[in-house]
Amino acid sequence: MKYVIVGSGVAGIAAIEAIRSVDDSGEVILVGDDPHGYYSRPGLAYYLTGELHDKALFPRTGDDYRSMNFRYAKQNVTRLDREKQVLEINGQSVISYDRLLLAVGAQAVTLKAPGAELEGVLKLDHMEDAKTILKFARRRKTAVVVGGGITALELVEGLVSRGVRVHYLLRGDRYWSNVLDEQESKIVEHRLQDEGVKIHYHAEILEVNGKNNRVQSVLLKDGTSLKCDLVAYAIGIRPRIELAKQAGLEIDRGVLVNEYMQTNDPHVYAAGDVAQVYDPSTGKAVLDSLWGPARQQGFSAGLNMAGRQTAYKKSAPFNVTRLAGLTTTIIGMVGKGRDQDMVGIARGDSETWRHLPEAIVAQTGFEVNRLRVLVGERTLLGAIVMGDQKLSFPLEKIISENVDISPIRERLLAPNARIADVIAEFWTNKNSVQV
Ligand SMILES: Cc1cc2nc3c(=O)[nH]c(=O)nc-3n(C[C@H](O)[C@H](O)[C@H](O)COP(=O)(O)OP(=O)(O)OC[C@H]3O[C@@H](n4cnc5c(N)ncnc54)[C@H](O)[C@@H]3O)c2cc1C
Repeated sequence: MKYVIVGSGVAGIAAIEAIRSVDDSGEVILVGDDPHGYYSRPGLAYYLTGELHDKALFPRTGDDYRSMNFRYAKQNVTRLDREKQVLEINGQSVISYDRLLLAVGAQAVTLKAPGAELEGVLKLDHMEDAKTILKFARRRKTAVVVGGGITALELVEGLVSRGVRVHYLLRGDRYWSNVLDEQESKIVEHRLQDEGVKIHYHAEILEVNGKNNRVQSVLLKDGTSLKCDLVAYAIGIRPRIELAKQAGLEIDRGVLVNEYMQTNDPHVYAAGDVAQVYDPSTGKAVLDSLWGPARQQGFSAGLNMAGRQTAYKKSAPFNVTRLAGLTTTIIGMVGKGRDQDMVGIARGDSETWRHLPEAIVAQTGFEVNRLRVLVGERTLLGAIVMGDQKLSFPLEKIISENVDISPIRERLLAPNARIADVIAEFWTNKNSVQV
């Protein structure tokens, strides 16, 4: 059996681990075009702030790779011929396969404005982008950051920590309006302002102006001109569906797969950011851009490619992240609608988060330690935990395992309920009963 994996991200590496766990004789080839290979992409945020050295972002050693026993081709796959079961690189049919995995990830949506091609207009997709941002941050004084979600804040935080003055532009009147509630947005915005970030509401770039390929200012749609020498943006990502599209595979926003991570061609699988996966909680096929699900999907795809039928069951999407320095956990369904600052989803994001059906909100805390839970008929549908993280693990379990919360539902919804105490007590009792 000859297995070929395109993409050296977490989904691709997990697939190789899975294949090798059940087949130590088949040939495995990994084709990837990132010059840095496999590294922690969420870790890039900490590399930007200087909290992590780039060397700390590589989770595997040369010995690890040798023991996985695969061949690595540092190449960009340009075409997939499904009839011949061959991958092309620059017009040459070079790699044949019996089973193929597309684990090609997603890429940043590019900023469309006159001047966006100037040298100092930057995005954060991969390691090379992070290095470019750091190179520019060393020589530039003022930045304009555009976009929403987690990555835009990572750009703001990274630049601030490097001593760059930041103007942060929001199209609407608050940050990440389709995931956070008003109070949560305000908490994040106040923290940014305390760090010296100037937030501009209802602000949109009309054009980026520069001279000799260098950014000098941005002109906003309301006529305001902001002097700056760098523009960084994170307005959303798009799954890299080009190969699948060219090969005639079924696609929607991502590559559509069944529960075995198989596309409509039984020899071709897809996993990670590029895959659009059935979500039992919403009844829809959705996109995630989350490290954990990409790893699980890659592993499941690998097992299935090697003939071990193993269904991937999507659980409540979960991310522990930092928003303006505040540890925040987002679980399950918490919001709705569109955020004007983003096209689709961002990095570290899930479409599921925005599919909230009828639910009643129970919340507590108005400053850093804030907890919001979305209470359904018999279960909790989602939660946001900001600051104190004691309850994030129990909440993740309660939500992903659809635990029946009927015994505490009324107490959660009572006026002035101490919801953190109610959930903590429920969790302790539940576990002591099980023991
Ligand atoms: C800045 C940043 C912050 C993030 N923050 C978080 C977070 O807080 N929490 C979280 O859970 N997730 C976060 N993520 C998202 C997480 O990293 C992704 O969900 C995960 O990396 C997806 O893995 P993947 O293997 O599907 O794709 P990727 O990691 O994107 O890997 C795909 C690989 O395929 C290669 N490739 C693409 N096309 C081709 C081709 N034609 N030929 C050869 N190679 C190709 C690419 O170069 C890439 O190396 C973040 C990502 C970034 C970039």
